[in-house]
Amino acid sequence: HRAVPLLVAALLVVAGCSDSAADSISAPDRGMIGLAMPTKESERWVGDGENMVRQFTLLGYRTDLQYADDDVDKQIEQIDAMVERGDKALVIGAINGTALKDVLAKAADADIPVISYDRLIRDTENIDYYATFDNYRVGVLQGTYLVTALGLKSGRGPFNIELFAGSADDNNATFFFNGAMSVLRPYISSGRLVVRSGQTAFAQVATQRWDAAVAKQRMTRILAAYYGSARLQAVLSPYDGISRGILEAVKAAGYSGSNLPVLTGQDAELDSVKLIVNGQQDQTVYKDTRELAKVAVQMTNSLLTGGTPEVNDTKQYNNGVKTVPTFLLQPVNVDKSNYQRILVDGGYYTADQLAA
Ligand code: BGC
Repeated sequence: HRAVPLLVAALLVVAGCSDSAADSISAPDRGMIGLAMPTKESERWVGDGENMVRQFTLLGYRTDLQYADDDVDKQIEQIDAMVERGDKALVIGAINGTALKDVLAKAADADIPVISYDRLIRDTENIDYYATFDNYRVGVLQGTYLVTALGLKSGRGPFNIELFAGSADDNNATFFFNGAMSVLRPYISSGRLVVRSGQTAFAQVATQRWDAAVAKQRMTRILAAYYGSARLQAVLSPYDGISRGILEAVKAAGYSGSNLPVLTGQDAELDSVKLIVNGQQDQTVYKDTRELAKVAVQMTNSLLTGGTPEVNDTKQYNNGVKTVPTFLLQPVNVDKSNYQRILVDGGYYTADQLAA
């Protein structure tokens, strides 16, 4: 009768029932899952890890959750140890998407299935499935927000804008940037948006390791070199941490209040949502990591129990070797007008957390 509590636990996970209800169920030991996540520096990955641990545990798996401090070699070592130990499956949020080829060849030799988590692992045939958000759409939401906030559709402008992208070794970064530029480029071409630095190519605007300090430094240099008496009116930023670095730089250059540039972001990090509430950052893209964890856990469980994981995209994500079957979740635009409904009513943050 071991299958019965397991089934109940699985149903509870699917139904999203409370942990306390599920905690009382003792599931059988179904083996170890290795969870390799990039960094604890950014809140979202902490949430991703915790959510997966909780959901795998409910299904009767053990988990080993490792963070690699954004250090590529450290992540390879962690994954290597999981393979050596003979873990049942690996779920990996890669730091450098092209650096895992060798360690994943070893995983394949040991018949260990691999789920690429949030970020696509490239240049290897040895990944099975990909769970992520619609990354191109994230960029479209950011670009569209800027166009709307500036009133470009009703002919306003020209406005000065600067562009930032994420880490070049993260496959998502180009998707975000290309999505945003699909909306912004026509306005740049027509001169309604002006990039005074002239830096519009991905390679020029990428931010190594998504590092806020790197972005702050680049913003500071650009303001000093290209702005003088001109005013920066908008910034495309791909991620909340980078947005906070940019904000520090513009404030240090004397911008404040209604003079601050329109600024996008991603991940609905607590500090950035507070900045949205008080009007310093304008937008973020919310990606419910509870949902992504659920998809990755279900994919893994399905693979390990002889099923076929559910996917909804089999075209977009070619990793250089093969097109990886993918489940895409939908990102959500968040700004001052809807943060209450989406983030507070949706249970992602309490009103107290935002007020603190
Ligand atoms: C994730 C984003 C995150 C960024 C920095 C990307 O791969 O998709 O949600 O903002 O990494 O951690």
